Amino acid sequence: MRTAEGLSSAEAAQLLKQAGPNQLPTEKPVSQWRKLWGEMTHFFALMLWCAAALAFIADMPQLAVAIIVVVIVNGVFAHIQQERAQHAAAKLRGLLPADVLARRDGKVRKVHASELVVGDVVLLSAGDRVPADVVLLTAQACAVDESMLTGESDPVPKTAGDQAWGGTFLVNGYGEAAVAATGAKTRLAGIAALTSAAVPPPTPLSLELRRIVRVTAGMALGIAAVFFLASLLVGFQWRDSFLFSIGVAVALVPEGLLPTVTLSLAMGAQRMASRNGLVRNLEAVETLGSTTFICTDKTGTLTQNRMNAVEVFTADGAIHVAGDGYAPEAHIEGRGVEKAAQAALAARTASQGRAELHDGQWRAQGDPMEAAMDVLARRLTGTVSGPVPSRRFPFDPARRRESAIVGQDLFCKGAPETVLPVCESVPGPVRDQLDVMANRGLRVIAVARRRLGGAPGTWQSAAAAELETGMELLGLIGLQDPPRPDVGDVIRTARQAGLRVAMITGDHPATAAAIARQIGLTGTPEYVLEGAALPEDDQVLGALLDRDGVVVSRVSPEQKLRVARALQSRGHVVAMTGDGVNDGPALREADIGVAMGLSGTDVAREAADLVLLDDHFGTIVAAIEQGRATYANIHRFLTYHLTDNVAELTPFVIWALSGGHFPLALGVLQILALDIGTDLLPALALGAEPPGRRVLTRPPERRHLMDRRLIIRVFCILGPVEAAVEMAVFSAVLAGGGWTRVRDPQVPLLMAASGAAFTAVVLGQLANAFACRSATVPPWKLGWGTNRLLVWAVLAEAAILGACLYLPSLAALLGQSPPPPEGLLLALLAAPAVLLADWIHKSVRGRLRRTKDQSL
Ligand code: ADP
Ligand code: MG
Repeated sequence: MRTAEGLSSAEAAQLLKQAGPNQLPTEKPVSQWRKLWGEMTHFFALMLWCAAALAFIADMPQLAVAIIVVVIVNGVFAHIQQERAQHAAAKLRGLLPADVLARRDGKVRKVHASELVVGDVVLLSAGDRVPADVVLLTAQACAVDESMLTGESDPVPKTAGDQAWGGTFLVNGYGEAAVAATGAKTRLAGIAALTSAAVPPPTPLSLELRRIVRVTAGMALGIAAVFFLASLLVGFQWRDSFLFSIGVAVALVPEGLLPTVTLSLAMGAQRMASRNGLVRNLEAVETLGSTTFICTDKTGTLTQNRMNAVEVFTADGAIHVAGDGYAPEAHIEGRGVEKAAQAALAARTASQGRAELHDGQWRAQGDPMEAAMDVLARRLTGTVSGPVPSRRFPFDPARRRESAIVGQDLFCKGAPETVLPVCESVPGPVRDQLDVMANRGLRVIAVARRRLGGAPGTWQSAAAAELETGMELLGLIGLQDPPRPDVGDVIRTARQAGLRVAMITGDHPATAAAIARQIGLTGTPEYVLEGAALPEDDQVLGALLDRDGVVVSRVSPEQKLRVARALQSRGHVVAMTGDGVNDGPALREADIGVAMGLSGTDVAREAADLVLLDDHFGTIVAAIEQGRATYANIHRFLTYHLTDNVAELTPFVIWALSGGHFPLALGVLQILALDIGTDLLPALALGAEPPGRRVLTRPPERRHLMDRRLIIRVFCILGPVEAAVEMAVFSAVLAGGGWTRVRDPQVPLLMAASGAAFTAVVLGQLANAFACRSATVPPWKLGWGTNRLLVWAVLAEAAILGACLYLPSLAALLGQSPPPPEGLLLALLAAPAVLLADWIHKSVRGRLRRTKDQSL
C-alpha cells in the first residue's frame, strides 16, 4: 500500500487507464425491444389490440390492420419520447458536482470522483460522500451514515484502520483515507446490481396523470358501450354498431398523453439546467411550478459568500482593516493591533479554510469565512501559516463554534452567543460592541483561548464541551459578506410572482436583519424571529411565518424542519434551502429541497430535489419560472388534444341523436389519422413553448391538470366551434350534391363530404395550435419566431392533410375523397372561426378579470 502522501498524477493516470473510471457500472440496460414491447402492451395499447381482434372477428380486416398500425406507430413514438426524456435526465445527473480533495503530487488537489484510483489518498470531512471503498488512515470523531448499504440509520463511528464504503456519507468528524476499491469493485456496486429492480414510489404528478388516464379510458369505454346499445336499438346491424363504438372509444382515449408529458418535463429540466438549476427528478419540475413559499438561507444564496474580516475588537480597542478580497495587502488603522493580531492567529488556528493564490488571483480554499480568518492573520502579522493542530473539533451547526488544540493551547472561534458563555469573564463593552457590529450587517465571530493544564493524555480524548470552559476571550472579529448585486431585483420579481420569501439563517438576528433590509426583503413592521423563541404550537408558528419577508435567525436544523411543516400545514408548497449535514430531514420534508452546488455538503445535495449550480437565490426563482412554464405547456397540449376529441366525437353524437338517420361525418380510421397523424407534432411543439414573459407576473396556482378553466375552454368554446364548422361543411357538401334521403347509398358523395369534414377539423386544429400558445392573449400578439418548432409542426400537419386527401390509396383507406371546391372553401373557414372564438373568449375573460381586480 502507498504511503499517506498519495500518488503522483502520472501514476494516477496510469492506474486509471488500467482500472477504468470510478463509476458504478450502469445497470444492464433494458433492451430497446423490451421497452418498445412495454409501450405496446400498456393499458391503452391493450384496449386497441382488443379492438383490432374484435374487428378481425367481425370480418373487418382493414379496420383491424389500421388499428394495429396505430398501436405500432404510437408505441414507437412513445418509445422515442421516453428515450429522449431519459437521455436528458441522465445528462443532468452528469452535471451534479462530484469533486473530492485528494493528495496528488504531494499537494491537496480537487479531483473528480470518477478519476480516483486505488492508492489515492482522499481528504474527507463531515458532509462528504465517501467516493470509493476506502481505509481510514486518520480519523477524528468520524461517523458514517451507512443506511444506503445496511438500512441502519444510526451513524457508525469509525477510527483509523476502519473501512468506509463508497456511497456512504461521513456525517461527523474528518480524516484522510486511502482508496481500496473503485467503481464496479466497490461494495455498493454489488448491492446496486441487486436493488436496481426496485421501483421508486409514484409521485403526485404520476398519480394525477394516472387518474386522468383512468377517468378518460373509463369514460371512453362507457360511452362506447352506450353507443353500441343505442345503435342496436335504432335497428342497426350489430356489425355497424360495433364499428361505431370502436370509433367512439378510440376517439376518446388520449393515446399520446403520457409520453408527451414526460418529454415536456424533461425539456423543462433541461431549460432549468441551462440556467444553473439542476433537478434531481423530473417531477420536481412540476412541483417547482406550484411553489408558493421560498425559505432561503443567507450566506452564499442572498450574499456573495466572499467574506472579508473588516473589524477586530479587543480589550485594547477596535481596529479597522481595509483590503480587497482575499489578497494579503490591506490598510489597517485603529488601536490594539497587537491584541487583534493575537485574536486573528487564534482564529486561523481553529480554521481549516485557507486563502490561496490561483492564476494570479487570491481565492478561498474551503469555507470562505475561514479563508477570511487566514487572510486577516496574514494582514495583521505577515505570517503565511501557523502550526498544525494536534486535534480539532470541527464546526458543528448545533454548537456553532469550532476549536483546535496546538501544544498546550485550545483555540476556539464561533458565534458569540455560544463562545461568550464559556469565557471566564466578558467585559461590558464587548456585548455593546457586538450589537453595534451586528447591526451594521457584519457577521460577528468571537475568538477565545484556554491553556490546558495537565498531561496531554487527559485531554487528547476528552469531548469538546469538557475542554471548552473557563476560556479567555481574545476578541470579536467582524466579517463583511456583501449581498449579491442583483438579489434585490430577484426578490422584487419573486414578489410580483406572488411568492413569499423568508430568510432562514444560522446567523445573528441583528446581522440577518441588516442584510435583509439591505436587499429589500423585510417590510414594515419587521418580523425578525429567533429559532429558540419560535412558538411551541405549530399552528401559531404557521400563522406567524405566513407573511412575506420574515427573518428567522439562529435557527437549528430541527427548527428548519418545523418551519417547513408549519408552512405546509397552511397549504403552502415550500422550497427550503439547506447546506449542512443535518439539513437532510428539512430538505426531504419540504416540497422542494434546495441544495448548493458550490458550497454545502454532499449529504444536503443527496436529500435535495433542486441543486443550485451557482448557489444563487435567483436560480431558485428562475427554476420556479421554468416549472410554471412547463406546467403551462402541459396545459397547452392538453387543451389542443382534447379540442380535437370534441370534433371527433360530435359526428357520433349527431348520428346517435338522429336515430342513425344522419350519416357519420368521420369514420374510425379518420379519427385515428387525426389523433396520431396530424395532431401529434403540434402537440409536441406546444410542449416546447418557451416561457412567456408574464409567467412571473402572476400569482402561483395549485391546479389540477384538468381544471375548470381548461374544461370550459375545450368543451364550451374551442371544441364546439370546431365541431360546428365540421358539421356545417359536411352537411353543405351533402346538400350541394343533392343528398336528401335517409341512408342514401351515394357513397362517392359521402366520401367527398367526409373529406371536407376531415379538412375542416385539421384546419381548425391548425389554428387551435396557435390559439393554445397562450391562455390569455390571441396568437397574433405572440412573436412567430419564438416557437419555430410549432411552425414546422403545423406545416407538417398541412402536408399530412394533403396526403390524406390526395393520395388515392390513403384517401380510400380512410374512407374519404378530395372535397369539391366549395367544400374546401367552407372548410377553410374553420381556422378563422376557431381564432375568432378564441379571441372573444380571451377578451371577455380578460375583462371579467380586470373588473374583478378593480372591485377587490
Ligand atoms: P448561515 O445561515 O449564515 O449559513 P450557519 O448556520 O452556517 O449560518 O452558521 C451559523 C453561525 O455559526 C454563524 O453565524 C457563525 O457565527 C457560526 N459559524 C459558521 N461557520 C463557522 C465556522 N467555520 N467556524 C466558527 N463558527 C462558524
Ligand atoms: Mg452556512
